[in-house]
Amino acid sequence: MTSAATTLKGQPLDRPALDSMLRRRMFYTPSFEIYGGVAGLYDYGPPGCSLQANIIDVWRKHFVLEEDMLEVDCSVLTPHDVLKTSGHVDKFADWMCKDPKNGEILRADHFVEEVLETRLKGDKEARGQKIEEKEEDPKKKKRKGKGAVEAVKLDDAVVQEYEEILAKIDNYNGQELGELIKKYDLKNAATGVQPSPPVAFNLMFQTAIGPSSNTPGYLRPETAQGQFLNFAKLLEYNQQQMPFASASIGRSYRNEISPRAGLLRVREFLMAEIEHFVDPQGGKKHPRFEEVKDVELVLLNRETQLSGKTHVEKVSIGKAVANGTVDNETLGYFLARIHLFLKKIGVDQSKIRFRQHMANEMAHYAADCWDAELFTSYGWVECVGCADRSAYDLSVHAAKTGAPLIVRERLPEPITIEEYQVELDKKKFGPHFKKDGKAVEAALLATTQCDREELSKTLESADSITVKVEGVGNGEVTVPKELITVAKRKRTENVREFTPNVIEPSFGIGRILYALMEHCYWSRASEGGDEARGVLSFPPTVSPTKVLIVPLSSNEEFRPFCRKLSQKLRKMGISSRIDDSSATIGKRYSRNDELGTPLGITIDFQTVKDQTITLRDRDSTKQVRADEDKIIEAIQAMVDGSKSWKDIEAELPVFSGQEVELPTRE
Ligand code: AMP
Repeated sequence: MTSAATTLKGQPLDRPALDSMLRRRMFYTPSFEIYGGVAGLYDYGPPGCSLQANIIDVWRKHFVLEEDMLEVDCSVLTPHDVLKTSGHVDKFADWMCKDPKNGEILRADHFVEEVLETRLKGDKEARGQKIEEKEEDPKKKKRKGKGAVEAVKLDDAVVQEYEEILAKIDNYNGQELGELIKKYDLKNAATGVQPSPPVAFNLMFQTAIGPSSNTPGYLRPETAQGQFLNFAKLLEYNQQQMPFASASIGRSYRNEISPRAGLLRVREFLMAEIEHFVDPQGGKKHPRFEEVKDVELVLLNRETQLSGKTHVEKVSIGKAVANGTVDNETLGYFLARIHLFLKKIGVDQSKIRFRQHMANEMAHYAADCWDAELFTSYGWVECVGCADRSAYDLSVHAAKTGAPLIVRERLPEPITIEEYQVELDKKKFGPHFKKDGKAVEAALLATTQCDREELSKTLESADSITVKVEGVGNGEVTVPKELITVAKRKRTENVREFTPNVIEPSFGIGRILYALMEHCYWSRASEGGDEARGVLSFPPTVSPTKVLIVPLSSNEEFRPFCRKLSQKLRKMGISSRIDDSSATIGKRYSRNDELGTPLGITIDFQTVKDQTITLRDRDSTKQVRADEDKIIEAIQAMVDGSKSWKDIEAELPVFSGQEVELPTRE
């Protein structure tokens, strides 16, 4: 079970209040709202756009710049063949069921989760225990009607069973989810009816490219495929140097079954993905692992989840790789780098964990996979996936297209390889098999070294061999001895060829942005005793606007100071806003606390006299006073992250008295 979400200051998180503030201040808003909106589609307003751009800016510096990654920007529209080969056409699906009474479509795993959680809640209520659980989705509440949680005590054994199921909910396939629905008689609260057995629903948006609809296609569900398809060109660009990483920032599209959790589950979202290509030989070491080995991560490993538990361990990534919890150094390196990125943008350190995928959850080709999950009022949410995809993607695209998606590495010394080789007597082979010749040849050449050893032994005593050839005769073909030789031969190699493995950190920017807003939110009691006001304590690096400039009043004398200051800041690339409205200074500041503006400058009569200005810190509301140059220097240091408010407070004279405007000037 998760504990309840709290604000930055430990207050219970009031999600409706936060949501209404975010919408009122236009961080985000439902798309097409005046037409009634569409579930899972949102627009970002000015502060949302700015916050997103700043997060992306940090991401680019932290990953692309820091590691010389090769950035690409690939097409969203993707032909069918590409996604067929990658496995998305057949497998990129979620399980859905339908309520036969009202036709409601439910995502099967979410449905099982919801019903079991509601029952556990009812049990707690019946036992008179405090319900410490993730908050109810307000829309869910509305659907079920009031008093949906019935206080019904469950057997202790049933409670344990439910908790175990919830701990490994991501590990069930459709059939297993169907069995759980039947076994526990799970009913849709809205109708009291059990939904139909789960069926697979492909999440891709299908379309036709061009007017003739001869080229079926999809909106990409991830940016990764474009990066794989450009592998050979990127390797060439990188002068054949390995390892290297490509990176891409762009929108992806998934037709989510029933998106409800606001920005967390949407149908169109911004992704930032990295494909790090590494030689599979030598244990996937990373040259910079040493730099991160002491970074401590909170890990929830797969064994713990499979045993029905959710407890975590805090361990350095160096240890986790050494003891095999995390499969290899390169994967470990990226987990640590992801952690450091999330820390840099202001994610609450107590609300991050890395959860390992269980076997069924992971694609069959993946060697290991971890999700960076952030705790929100919706529970733990996967915000970054980090998978070791082995050589799968490059191999399947190479096999389908014949493109050499491989690395050719000159060996320091030539090596001699002794191996079984298949030699065909082409003059006899063709006439013997006629139209099936190509297929039989391909089947023979596709045999492994083990197969060949067997074949060579058979040929020592028999007159022919049999091989499996799909689509020819009954699937088995006899090859007479005089057409084929299978023997051990020596050859010299100067070049080693291999298909790189891929470590893929994949970031959902919208999820990170939403989690960050929850983590930075708190409410401050207002001085006048009216309603508490929301504050978003974003670090200056990512906050949408860095500086608020407030003249003490609308007095004309303040105007030139405001203008000059904002021009100076603009020149330095620091975003600022002037608020010269007639509201009190306190109101003007609190309006901007809601936007997360970290710093405020007040222009007052003292400024007119001696050119000094005050600088206010959003979180402590403390102020310092100094001349313009010193204040601007301080702002720059805080925005680039090299100094904190504490440093500035220690360097510059603290200012406590706020001037008020006098009715008449001296
Ligand atoms: P995946 O390829 O499914 O591992 O997804 C990679 C990342 O994309 C996840 O870690 C999420 O942050 C993000 N993501 C996936 N699906 C959605 C969605 N429907 N809405 C928003 N973000 C998503």
